[in-house]
Amino acid sequence: MDSDILASRTRIATTAQGATGYLTIDLAALGRNYRKLVSMLGPVRAGAVVKADAYGLGAERVARTLYGEGCRHFFVAQFVEAVRLRPALAQDAQVFVLNGLQPGNEIACAEMGIVPVLNSLAQWRQWSAAARILKRCLPAVLQFDTGMSRLGFPREERAELAAALRDGTNVEILFIMSHLASADDMDSEQNGEQFAEMSRIADEFPGFDISFANSGGVFLGEAYYGVLARPGIALYGGAPNAGEKNPMEPVVSLDVAVVQTRSVPAGAKVGYGGAHVTQRETRLATIAAGYADGLPRSLSDCGAVYFKGIRLPIVGRVSMDSATVDISALPEGALTFGSLVEVLGRHQTLEDIARDAGTISYEILTGLGDRYHRQYR
Ligand SMILES: *Cc1c(COP(=O)(O)O)cnc(C)c1O
Repeated sequence: MDSDILASRTRIATTAQGATGYLTIDLAALGRNYRKLVSMLGPVRAGAVVKADAYGLGAERVARTLYGEGCRHFFVAQFVEAVRLRPALAQDAQVFVLNGLQPGNEIACAEMGIVPVLNSLAQWRQWSAAARILKRCLPAVLQFDTGMSRLGFPREERAELAAALRDGTNVEILFIMSHLASADDMDSEQNGEQFAEMSRIADEFPGFDISFANSGGVFLGEAYYGVLARPGIALYGGAPNAGEKNPMEPVVSLDVAVVQTRSVPAGAKVGYGGAHVTQRETRLATIAAGYADGLPRSLSDCGAVYFKGIRLPIVGRVSMDSATVDISALPEGALTFGSLVEVLGRHQTLEDIARDAGTISYEILTGLGDRYHRQYR
């Protein structure tokens, strides 16, 4: 027993820093997912969307890996993300800020060599002013709203923008872009509607390269490609199209440690609110991850984890730092204090857990907390 404790103490000091959950990020699988998209896209370039810390996987590690695969266009959502990522990448990589800049960030952005996506005349004017102050031409991307009503020049601003471009400008437009709202649904009519609107925009703003497709868009077909695709979720192993077989390789697995096991009689209350009452004698395990670690509270009494391929249902409410699972399906003693259960892996995909939680893979990935020990393979 003493030697066990000693052995585990050595292990913790060297590898896992005392963490009770292990998030494994397979950078080789990430690379293969990128190459798969590249081969589908043919001559069209594949950028990478690495916003929200590369959907929770670590923007720097992810971006460097993809740079190694030939990716040169990296998209983040917010300027602060670009400020962190820019120095980690070689000069021939470009970092784009999808939300554009808040007023006042223009000079810092220009000086760091970060490229804003301009979404409105207001952002356009601010960026043009920065170019005048710095007395040089500044690069930018123009985003148009084609029917999502979220970001991008609205139709009403297009005429004034076109006039400003005709008058000559010290802003160099690298390409124009738009974003698909329903590309995950291959049958959605909105895809065709947005495509038609993008075609009208291409006529109004001739001569510019176009970037259109996100992950789902890559699978909608060539018409949606433009010259540069912007996949995110597919790189990280999420399904690009809902309801279709997922062609991407999983990148993330998550194993969480058991803190305690117990047997309770029929009629025992489990977890906050006593919301679950056992129907029979039940063996339970408490695992060291809760909603603060990204196990959504909506998995209460409906999600599961796995041990050696056996499904262990979550019983009662998911707590902040732990959740309780029913281990009665396992032989007694099979799972003990210190065992690891699979939250994401061979038996439970991102889509499985997202469906049980009533959400999408994106929210599961970006919610994975920072208390896990992250290991990159
Ligand atoms: C998030 C985002 C993407 C990537 O979308 P996925 O569905 O993850 O591929 C592409 N373009 C824009 C503008 C985005 O906001």
